[in-house]
Amino acid sequence: MQGYLQNWYIQNKRDLPWRHTQDPYIIWLSEVILQQTRVVQGLPYFLKFSTTYPSIKDLAEAPLDDVMKLWQGLGYYSRARNMHHTANLIYEKYGNSFPTSYEQMIALKGIGPYTASAVASFAFNLPYAVLDGNVNRVLSRLFMVDEPINSSKGKKIFESLSTEFLDINQPAMHNQAIMELGALVCLPQNPKCAECPLNTFCAARMKNVASEFPKKIKKQKPRDRYFNYIFIKQNNQTFLNQRFEKDIWQHLFEFPLIETKKKESLEEMLPQLKTILDTDKINSISCTFESKHQLTHQTIWADFWEIEISKIKPQKEWLKIDLQEIKNYAVPRLLEKFLIKHNLQ
Ligand code: SF4
Repeated sequence: MQGYLQNWYIQNKRDLPWRHTQDPYIIWLSEVILQQTRVVQGLPYFLKFSTTYPSIKDLAEAPLDDVMKLWQGLGYYSRARNMHHTANLIYEKYGNSFPTSYEQMIALKGIGPYTASAVASFAFNLPYAVLDGNVNRVLSRLFMVDEPINSSKGKKIFESLSTEFLDINQPAMHNQAIMELGALVCLPQNPKCAECPLNTFCAARMKNVASEFPKKIKKQKPRDRYFNYIFIKQNNQTFLNQRFEKDIWQHLFEFPLIETKKKESLEEMLPQLKTILDTDKINSISCTFESKHQLTHQTIWADFWEIEISKIKPQKEWLKIDLQEIKNYAVPRLLEKFLIKHNLQ
């Protein structure tokens, strides 16, 4: 069965830049960027990162704020922070060369089983099976696995199934082929079974139930959060705050924020704004932008309060900058939308 899969891959694989290298650092970079990201969205970021930071040394020595700025817009920002942190760990321990064994990779904070298997197999042809969403889906249909992929029992089943299914003589090609099949043919909705090289072996296809797999435990509904951003305008200057607390968007910059339990009206916001700005004299105030921003586990309802003010006593952690300088700071996508609308990005 694996031979059919690999022949199909040779004839149908997409021509992607990270498939032209065996440099483990570049492969690792591509894997970090492509996690939870579609190829078409991740590709420009891969090109930017591999050009700006062509070696582990370049990435390790780069200021974190520069890395975050380059990552801006790709989402899941903890990946950028972890990537930078891991690059530093590797550089300290192994110098300007990437570790060469699965064990060395998995021992590093920030490299999990998926990434270690991908780099070990793609760069060094070592026999480790990759297991991502695409592979889970193909295996669940091929063998009609009833256990949910996101249950702890299911995870163990899929781990051993992927290892058993691995072609240990061609691990790099096998892993790429099954991932590519999931990306191009065994699609989440409407799998193209007629074009599939495994269709004569596939249990779900034979019973005509492919779209019922993989089984999943339903996730909780995302929680709602209400962000009130204060866009302070004072003589062509404004204030930014860098997020450090254990929450979304660590290390990114944003306007000073008041988080509330519900959407607030101007009357409800005014006293809170006066307190945080430590003033009674606000020249003008209006909500100039509203946005709903969907993250995996949270829905952010954001209001941007634009405030003209002549005197202010800023909080000590706020950073006073010229409006034109904002574009030099890494901001979440939500703020980027606001800045684009205001010609500040
Ligand atoms: S036959 Fe259909 S369901 Fe089975 S692996 Fe191929 S595309 Fe997926």
